[in-house]
Amino acid sequence: MSYRVWGWGDPADEPTRADLVALAPFVTATTGVPAQEPLVPAELPALPPSRHLAALPPSLRPLASDDPVDRARHAVGRSYRDLVRAMAGRIDSPPDLVLRPTDEQGVVDVLSWAQEQGAPVVPFGGGSSVVGGVEPRGLTGAVSLDLSGLAGLVEVDEVSRAVRLRAGTFGPAAEAALKPYGLTLRFYPQSFERSTVGGWVATRAAGHFSTRLTHVDDLVESVRAVTPVGTWESRRLPGSGAGPSPDRMLLGSEGTLGVITEAWLRAQPRPAHRWSATLAAPDLATGGRAVRSLVQSGLLPATCRLVDAGEAALTGTLSTGEAALVLGFESLSAPVTTDATLALELCRDAGLRVLESGDRGSAGEAWRSTFVRAPYLRESLLLLGVLVETFETAITWDRFDALVASVTAATTEALHRVCGGGTVTCRLTHVYADGCAPYFTVLAPARRGSEVAQWDEVKAAASDALAAAGGTITHHHAVGRDHRPWYDRQRPDPFALALAGAKAAVDPAGVLNPGVLLG
Ligand SMILES: Cc1cc2nc3c(=O)[nH]c(=O)nc-3n(C[C@H](O)[C@H](O)[C@H](O)COP(=O)(O)OP(=O)(O)OC[C@H]3O[C@@H](n4cnc5c(N)ncnc54)[C@H](O)[C@@H]3O)c2cc1C
Repeated sequence: MSYRVWGWGDPADEPTRADLVALAPFVTATTGVPAQEPLVPAELPALPPSRHLAALPPSLRPLASDDPVDRARHAVGRSYRDLVRAMAGRIDSPPDLVLRPTDEQGVVDVLSWAQEQGAPVVPFGGGSSVVGGVEPRGLTGAVSLDLSGLAGLVEVDEVSRAVRLRAGTFGPAAEAALKPYGLTLRFYPQSFERSTVGGWVATRAAGHFSTRLTHVDDLVESVRAVTPVGTWESRRLPGSGAGPSPDRMLLGSEGTLGVITEAWLRAQPRPAHRWSATLAAPDLATGGRAVRSLVQSGLLPATCRLVDAGEAALTGTLSTGEAALVLGFESLSAPVTTDATLALELCRDAGLRVLESGDRGSAGEAWRSTFVRAPYLRESLLLLGVLVETFETAITWDRFDALVASVTAATTEALHRVCGGGTVTCRLTHVYADGCAPYFTVLAPARRGSEVAQWDEVKAAASDALAAAGGTITHHHAVGRDHRPWYDRQRPDPFALALAGAKAAVDPAGVLNPGVLLG
């Protein structure tokens, strides 16, 4: 029953005890963390009664659900601290109600009712937030505004190659709708299956391609949102110099300034040619220098995944004790030979060894499906008592080596202090001419019942180290409630005032996702 609250998949995907017992030796061998007796997830606790249902106006009643499973599902995102609590039957902050509008007028009606009642509204796309963005933590009488009923492709502009999608459209549905047009968004966050267009825009999500179009920002042509004081819709333009961008303001607003209902996104034809290579680097720093020389030479590999030796071994990419670089180029028209040849030459000059290279055809699809299966494996690790979580940042190249060294050291020290052991590995998810986005994975033995306290202490040590090394608290996971202390320190004070002023103007009653970004 509780899998519907914390599970990534459909009920049939819930790992059974037999699955977990069979997986345990593999987990112990690959992670180095001894698997524990499989956890039997707790049943859902009784939730406090919903206060709002009886008082809802008749127009909103058909949109409302006070079903306990529904409320519990909307009380948690998908971070480690969310999953361990939900698996233990801890639903700390359930919304009073879940409201599911099926058109934009429904969103308008919900916001106007919420303003009158002073009820906090937490927008909910796919609920894949890993930063406490959808949990109504510390809020009284909150409602979760589920946008999944506002889904689908509305319009295709084949001349400009842009598409208008409703906010609640999930990744696979968006791609399926674009396929008949020969188009793709080419936007694949690892949460692709369980996240929505509106959630991507609201969190400034990033897809798995390493260069060029990294964040959803690069795809956004215009955004439409409902605010308590009216509709916020920008003009469709390929670019504009008319003052601060209205789209940029909504990008990353995390449900605090308005409810995104639609977006025009730039689409692309499907690539015809693909090439890939795997290389070995003596260590992450040497690999980093090679990657820097590639991007600073103007090359824009679609895939440029540099993983340290620990992660290369863990993921089965390379078991020689070296770091690994997976490179991929794609092209719409001509084969990618020139770029690929130059890339290999630059990598060899930087001290890397080419293990294999060549045309990939559709092999990229298989890699992508492995990538999107990872969240299922993560659930099994948690049930076997492994603390597994990731955190990420971005830094300019001049401070890259120092950041990786200091963050790895601080996080490893915290893991040993708090968990009695564990490992920290690092890879680059995105690369730019002036820097990169290091992404860290933590594996450690969890102490049953204390997982949240353990992780909170490790996360604080890691975040302090990121801040001290000059990195951002997030490159693409967003701020939510969990990153607030570090975000508050990172942003300029006058900017915080400007943001608060903007929020007060469009959300005078302060009902939109209080506690996220502000408040
Ligand atoms: C296994 C896993 C892998 C992930 N991989 C990636 C990745 O590769 N790249 C990446 O960037 N992120 C990743 N994430 C994080 C997460 O998937 C992204 O933040 C995603 O964009 C959230 O989309 P969602 O639809 O699930 O939004 P939700 O989780 O429902 O909401 C996220 C935030 O946006 C707000 N919001 C949602 N919809 C709207 C709307 N229509 N209008 C206004 N506000 C809204 C919510 O209130 C909340 O604050 C991953 C998460 C998991 C669990």
